[in-house]
Amino acid sequence: ESLDKGLEKTKEGFFSKLSRVVVGKSKVDEDVLDELEEILISSDVGVETTIKIIRRIEDRVAKDKFLTTNELDGILREEIAELLAENKSSDVENAFIKSDKKPFVLMVVGVNGVGKTTTIGKLASQFHQAGNKVVLGAGDTFRAAAVDQLKLWGQRVGIPVIDHGMNTDPASVAYDAVKQAVEQDADIVIIDTAGRLHTKVNLMNELSKIKRVMQKVIPDAPHEVLLVLDGSTGQNAFIQAQEFTKVTEVTALAITKLDGTAKGGVVIGISDQFKIPVKYIGVGEKIEDLQVFNKKEFVDSLFK
Ligand code: GDP
Repeated sequence: ESLDKGLEKTKEGFFSKLSRVVVGKSKVDEDVLDELEEILISSDVGVETTIKIIRRIEDRVAKDKFLTTNELDGILREEIAELLAENKSSDVENAFIKSDKKPFVLMVVGVNGVGKTTTIGKLASQFHQAGNKVVLGAGDTFRAAAVDQLKLWGQRVGIPVIDHGMNTDPASVAYDAVKQAVEQDADIVIIDTAGRLHTKVNLMNELSKIKRVMQKVIPDAPHEVLLVLDGSTGQNAFIQAQEFTKVTEVTALAITKLDGTAKGGVVIGISDQFKIPVKYIGVGEKIEDLQVFNKKEFVDSLFK
């Protein structure tokens, strides 16, 4: 399965380290827990979430008096799964398609290079395949080639892309895209945006202008603001999540490029720390490699 394959590196990195720790040790003691803590942190689970996981295991050790290192895998798996399950906001079904909003307005934000355009293309393709009428708005008018890349996806999937070219006003693109989506009786309209995080005030103004303008057509738009994060950047993804949630109301997360990285633990940390659901994960280049995030499957796959 592509999830298992996509998480291979994280899994290998994590478990090869874990098995080294427990070699020659029979019980879970302070040393084992200290090393486990280091492994979790180096797998980009994040300090806060790591501490939570270690506390949980300490509680188990205290309760059961004695835990063998053979049991550690299983316990870790249970505790991570429970930790994620506690965060109800991360219980995701594919909310976009079942929505009663028509058209459903999905605005996508994120810095350059995280896989934003690719994620939009993959989503558009999946929604289209599921029988939805999709319209795209090429609102990343800042990054060279972003508009062309989106147009290419549109051609490939066979859906309209509204574009005004490069260096044009993204709000005006968003307005036209939403308007066309209404006129064409579309189910979903996905709006790309530029993510220039180094100019925070500009970004904030730009995103609120885009929202304001689309609200002239659909007062409660956007119905979802999806922040795309690059999972292979580990702690940077945390920082971007913090920054973006300061400048705009983010309602969902997509974490990409989990294949090819051992930093997949970032999904656990982000899912635990931000009260924003991780809705999608990217585990490869193919369209179907953008998957709806399922906590249980994710943890199962890590511990398989
Ligand atoms: P943008 O600047 O955020 O729009 O980034 P792009 O969508 O252009 O993506 C940057 C690169 O990341 C492209 O080469 C994508 O094919 C690649 N990419 C995006 N998502 C994934 C993923 O889940 N796995 C892998 N391996 N590559 C990805």
